[in-house]
Amino acid sequence: MDLSGKVSFITGGARGIGFEIASLFAKHGSDIVIGDVNGENLRKAVDQLKGFGIDAEGYILDVSNYESCEEVVKKAIDKYGHVDILVNNAGITRDNLIMRMKIEDFDKVISINLKGVFNCTKALIRYMMKQRSGRIINISSVIGLMGNAGQANYAASKAGVIGLTKSTAKEVASRNINVNAIAPGYIQTEMTEVLPDDVKQKMLGGIPLSRPGTPTDVANAALFLASDYSSYITGQVIVVDGGMVM
Ligand code: NDP
Repeated sequence: MDLSGKVSFITGGARGIGFEIASLFAKHGSDIVIGDVNGENLRKAVDQLKGFGIDAEGYILDVSNYESCEEVVKKAIDKYGHVDILVNNAGITRDNLIMRMKIEDFDKVISINLKGVFNCTKALIRYMMKQRSGRIINISSVIGLMGNAGQANYAASKAGVIGLTKSTAKEVASRNINVNAIAPGYIQTEMTEVLPDDVKQKMLGGIPLSRPGTPTDVANAALFLASDYSSYITGQVIVVDGGMVM
């Protein structure tokens, strides 16, 4: 799958699944722009990405802030002249039962996981529409499909991402822009590392393929959605979960 000549913008790309997607796209020839909140992680990630022989830029980005998304998109367009692939990956958890969930933890998760996808899409979409091509890949979650006790905020945000994906896909299909979502299951990253062992064991028990996913499992699906092999696919949710939800 050849992505040479393309520029990919990956939010939350300094570590975890986002960094793995950036690395895989870079291995396939794409130049990379990553946006993330942590400057130190950004610098390390950009150095590693350049090791694949492509050009990479890292910009401080808070996806929950529209002006921040607009600024980073402008920097990327000023430098490269185009952005071909947007991966809305940045996301957080603030888990608790509804009874104990702080209002600000509900709002924060929605503003990063859901509004962040809207913000970056809105900031970039007019450029993609003008160039009459583009790919948008939104990282949702199986939790958005099935819900989870203790994750009402996260589940609502990730279900929202699916509705947003389908609406965006319908709005921009005539401009040759494909918009799809990936719903990962239990993937081993720093986000899931902090979960208690009994919760991890319970999740593993519900996975027919009997192993947690890796960031590469998710990145492989993202590469397919970024490539010409998926040119007739839009508005879909690809579930990457070892069979957890079927
Ligand atoms: P990580 O926590 O490992 O990485 C998330 C990255 O996003 C971090 O670099 C983080 O920065 C960054 N980030 C956080 N807030 C913002 C913000 N406001 N603006 C820009 N960047 C931000 O998460 P994962 O790699 O595990 O998850 C990536 C995506 O995949 C998320 O959307 C998540 O919900 C989703 N997902 C993950 C699953 C899993 O099992 N891991 C399962 C299903 C979905 P910092 O380093 O400062 O925290």
